[in-house]
Amino acid sequence: MENNGKGEAFRNRPINIDETGNRKRILAKQPKGIWYIRRTVVAWICIAFLILAPILKINGNPLMLFDIANRKFSLFANIIWVQDTFILALIMLVIVICILLFTVVFGRLWCGWACPQTIFMEMIYRRVEYLFDGNLRSKRKNEEDALSRTFRLIGKHISFVLISVVITNIFVMWFTGPDKLLQIITSPISENQLGFIFMAGISLFYYLVYAFFREQICTFFCPYGRLQGVLLDSKSISVIYDYKRGEPRGAKNEGDCIDCAQCIAVCPTGIDIKDGSQFECINCTACIDECNIVMKKIKKPGNLIRFDSFHGIETGKRSIANARTYAYTAVLIILIFILAFTISKRSSIDISVIRMQGTMYQEIDSVTVSNIYNMKIINKTNMTKHISFKLEDMQGGKLEFSNDISNLEKEKTSQTVLMIKIPKQELKGKTTNLTIGVYEENILLSTATINFIGPQK
Ligand code: SF4
Ligand code: SF4
Repeated sequence: MENNGKGEAFRNRPINIDETGNRKRILAKQPKGIWYIRRTVVAWICIAFLILAPILKINGNPLMLFDIANRKFSLFANIIWVQDTFILALIMLVIVICILLFTVVFGRLWCGWACPQTIFMEMIYRRVEYLFDGNLRSKRKNEEDALSRTFRLIGKHISFVLISVVITNIFVMWFTGPDKLLQIITSPISENQLGFIFMAGISLFYYLVYAFFREQICTFFCPYGRLQGVLLDSKSISVIYDYKRGEPRGAKNEGDCIDCAQCIAVCPTGIDIKDGSQFECINCTACIDECNIVMKKIKKPGNLIRFDSFHGIETGKRSIANARTYAYTAVLIILIFILAFTISKRSSIDISVIRMQGTMYQEIDSVTVSNIYNMKIINKTNMTKHISFKLEDMQGGKLEFSNDISNLEKEKTSQTVLMIKIPKQELKGKTTNLTIGVYEENILLSTATINFIGPQK
């Protein structure tokens, strides 16, 4: 692909690092245009979700909560316990497959539109920075005296610190819930020194990331960004420069690109999209808007830079919605449905019954044999359960518990010692398989299968 004779040497090091290995600070111009408006709307929907998800409740469950302390997660108001290993594994699998399929088809759409790093950087911190520094900072700096420049700098960094503290609290709320967070915030620091140090540390981390590291998080640290090289192919959709239409570039050349460098000025990662696909590009669309403004001024058709694929540019046929896009999207939707179905069908009660260590069978009398077990039962719902137990397919068997566990409090685990007594004539041999059913008002909630040991027949 044409890149104005630059060759591929620019790929030897990230754009924000100079020949001596020092950082080159990127001062991006504020974008404006329809894509920036769309991105702003999406970003504020994401921010609203981030704030409201742990606060909103459905059927008494938070919409989203990662309650690590109590080893349970609320995903779209469905409580998932650490014990739900199958569902957790399925969720991980679906997430990995979704990331892979989504990236193959839609490129780095996530990075530019939904990643918290980009949303906070571009929609909050950068906007605050524009507020203090103006869009073209160098102009303002030249006009003002040292004192007002210092005040402006202090004001900007105080705002950054305050925003970082707010973001930290929002993230902590995803792990504690709003009530616990409020309790942490309102209690004296002396009562919660560790928590205070933790939150201050996270706030400092956010401040450093957004005030100083910025695009380096995407280019150096983010593993997802690094995956792009292997996941994208010629049909993947990304922000791309139409070199067929744009070249040969320059005001006096016949290509539509006038080489004004506005697409570079607005790029938050400082790259030149005209050089082709680069790992620094987060698909933020700022260059699309900026180039469209230029195209309008020079009375040329817009979308010289646009969402398209390399294949689409080569063939001249835009290929955002093709058979592959539909097929991969269908697979994504099916996977999400399977996950939702599995979550909705899982048992509300988790029961585990394990033979008490070091015990064998006991002959109670000439006709009855007993075994002793440890039983653990978890109520995964947010309602008290009134339960009863039954030995399935075993008429003469009896269950005896060391304590009453018939009223299971919401989201609580109960333990008991269980003695099972079986008439000898119902035993199938040295080992008999038994099933214990857990019922609420004659509705079977869960079962546990165990081995019962008896004398040789
Ligand atoms: S903004 Fe458009 S016209 Fe200007 S250099 Fe970039 S691609 Fe070319
Ligand atoms: S090249 Fe364009 S889409 Fe990519 S990061 Fe820069 S401005 Fe955003």
